[in-house]
Amino acid sequence: MLDKRKFYIDGQWVDPLAPHDLEVINPATEEAIAVISLGTEADIERAVAAAKRAFQSYSLTSVEERLALLEKLLAIYERRYEEMARTITLELGAPATMSREQQADVGVGHLKGFIDALKNLHMREKLPNGDTLLREPIGVCGLITPWNWPINQIALKVVPALATGCTCVLKPSEFTPLNAMLYAEMVHEAGFPAGTFNLVNGEGAACGAALSRHPDIEMMSFTGSTRAGKAVTRDAAENIKRVTLELGGKSPNIVFADADLEDRIPASVAEIFNNSGQSCDAPTRMLVERSVYDKVVALAEEAGKAARVGDPTEEGDHIGPLVSDIQFGRVQALIEAGIAEGARVLVGGAGKPEGFEKGYFVKPTIFADVTNDMKIAREEVFGPVLVLIPFDTEEEAIAVANDTPYGLAAYVQSGDLERAQRVAARLRAGMVHINGGPHRYGSPFGGYKQSGNGREGGRFGLEDFLEVKTVHLPDVA
Ligand code: NDP
Repeated sequence: MLDKRKFYIDGQWVDPLAPHDLEVINPATEEAIAVISLGTEADIERAVAAAKRAFQSYSLTSVEERLALLEKLLAIYERRYEEMARTITLELGAPATMSREQQADVGVGHLKGFIDALKNLHMREKLPNGDTLLREPIGVCGLITPWNWPINQIALKVVPALATGCTCVLKPSEFTPLNAMLYAEMVHEAGFPAGTFNLVNGEGAACGAALSRHPDIEMMSFTGSTRAGKAVTRDAAENIKRVTLELGGKSPNIVFADADLEDRIPASVAEIFNNSGQSCDAPTRMLVERSVYDKVVALAEEAGKAARVGDPTEEGDHIGPLVSDIQFGRVQALIEAGIAEGARVLVGGAGKPEGFEKGYFVKPTIFADVTNDMKIAREEVFGPVLVLIPFDTEEEAIAVANDTPYGLAAYVQSGDLERAQRVAARLRAGMVHINGGPHRYGSPFGGYKQSGNGREGGRFGLEDFLEVKTVHLPDVA
């Protein structure tokens, strides 16, 4: 078992101030793979003090100096890429192929997206009215990340913080801490000055809250549940920190009768099952025009039955387990709620798939004949669970799509691009995908309503970490 009990503070791996061991569990085998430490408020204090000291000089570095550090980080990440993919498979249960092609790949994509954005960002600009505008790093940042796309969220927070001249303290999820510790090794090797990046493992209620409340932290960037996002916001209010949040979703996928159903329905099913459904922007509510409802139900059933669950260490396009026994319990409870509410089980259902008694594996599940007031249509399941809801008109589809407290992503499938764009404009969501259009690196990622505040990635992601200063000079005669 790996001994990973140290934290990365002020450029060194240090022991926690008080021992508090936690085993990291492989979700496919339920076996312990490593032991980490859970930090306390005192560890956070130490990390924030280091970040505060480092800010004095790091905030004054030039864009060119920071670009050189980011380029080094990119080269190191690319060299240790396979190690990152294997680590994510081990602690999250993401299947090997998916881990390499998606989970680890985002670490490269976002880094390149930020390097491009930084090259094009004007830290100093003359306004048309003669005033000068300066963009400056906001200060010490607290970063809290979840387990579902762990390196994605780390890259979307650590990279813009360091790119803009901020310093930071990262608290990754204690369910997937190993990829974060590997990232810390890379940041160290790249030569970022001591104290610019610090990592403390620990629980949200202790370490996360200590960060959010800390008076020397100017900004909190959080990704996770809406519940925890509200807690971070409340804790951060005391000293008016900037808070950016990337929270849950219940994204609608509107399927019009004129869509290429044979292509788009299996693709939509694959998208919801990807990462075992543990994605905040997954297309979890499929709204289907009634004239093609039966056909879509049949296509979804066929695609759902073809989905395979399997050992994450094996290559292939199967799905792995959920991350933890807690998530397994939550997903089971929601599947049971769907059955109790009278939704029709097309594929899957409650319980473990046959032959997978060990590990947090669940059956990929599809419910038909769902109404938007059912629990499975309203709550984020965060498992491979899709619901199908029929609609009659475009207006009704838009109304049902927007009838959710969330607003992260939305999806539209239609053969009429003009209609798809007309509908996209009326959806209250931060990102709309038309006919499988992918999210590209460098574009803003984030949501409306209770899906959060702020945008991550590229230029918008950098701007969230910057203050704006206006310098007024006297008029020249
Ligand atoms: P949480 O939101 O609780 O966890 C995400 C991160 O926030 C973890 O590092 C967690 O630490 C931390 N955290 C929790 N409470 C606080 C707090 N009060 N102050 C500061 N940090 C805190 O998600 P869960 O793991 O419990 O998952 C629950 C549900 O959240 C999922 O089923 C899913 O619906 C949603 N979720 C959404 C994600 C997204 O990408 N938007 C990602 C993950 C989950 P700790 O683990 O110690 O609690």
